[in-house]
Amino acid sequence: MSKNSTSVTGIHHITAIAGDPQENLDFYISVLGLRLVKKSINQDAPDTYHFFFADGEGNPGTDLTFFPWPGMAPRRPGAGVWGEIGFIIPPGSMDWWEDHLKQKGITLAPREVRFGEPVLPFFDPHGMYLSLTEATLYREFTFTPWAHSPVPEQVQIQALGSATLTLRNEEATKTFLAGALGFRFDREEDGRRRYVVGEGAGGQRLDLLLDPKAPTGTWGVGAVHHVAFRVPDGRTQEVIDQQIRENHGRSSGVIDRFWFQSVYVREPSGALCEVATDGPGFGVDEDMAHLGETLVLPPWYEPQREAIEANLAPIKLPVQGGR
Ligand code: ZN
Repeated sequence: MSKNSTSVTGIHHITAIAGDPQENLDFYISVLGLRLVKKSINQDAPDTYHFFFADGEGNPGTDLTFFPWPGMAPRRPGAGVWGEIGFIIPPGSMDWWEDHLKQKGITLAPREVRFGEPVLPFFDPHGMYLSLTEATLYREFTFTPWAHSPVPEQVQIQALGSATLTLRNEEATKTFLAGALGFRFDREEDGRRRYVVGEGAGGQRLDLLLDPKAPTGTWGVGAVHHVAFRVPDGRTQEVIDQQIRENHGRSSGVIDRFWFQSVYVREPSGALCEVATDGPGFGVDEDMAHLGETLVLPPWYEPQREAIEANLAPIKLPVQGGR
């Protein structure tokens, strides 16, 4: 393992599995106040939607995406699949969020303090484990408020802050995260072992939970499918891809996802990781003022648009801007 690995910048996006697509849209737009920045299809299963929720401009690090697969069994939490996903909210906004989520009838867990920061864990309507953390972001992070969100700008969710992974044994994953992606151990509290890149700020954290008796987790409705990490450009992605191979990772090689370039790899316990470029971004095929309003297909699927649209479940976008 190289001591001076090139590191990813932080989290790029996270992709998860939802149940009913309409319930998914309603929750992330109308309750969490995110902007739907892209309505597309699963490039590997084009009869399924792929929704992208983010900040006002779809900046890297803000984007939570979903494959709604309502027919799938619920997830089974456990080792080898990603667990809780943390969002960053501005310092001082937790009371607003707790009231808001209660009013909307959301299942909340008790508030916690982790590493000195207030955290509110809760579940989305399909059993996905989420949390809100009051924290600051790293210097080069760009957050753009969404002017038409039902959530006031001063308390809006600003970023994906962290991801959590349960392991039976930390060793192989720790070595891989350090050598391939450049994560370093930061600190431990109550069995939560935090690994960071850069400043270790919101958006640059992974928390490992050790549980030698954990059952093997599975994908299903409410599960995280993969966590993607940011690199500024294709050249850095090549360097990281090389580090992945040097650390015994089975890299997918570069795949064109149109809005960014991606490399996929499973870390040693089995959780799926991606390394994605910051650009070109969601404005490449849509006017920034109208992101997410129409079904966007990668150009190579355009000839099949009619058949693809006929196979997708009908949905209705919640009215945005209704404060
Ligand atoms: Zn991805």
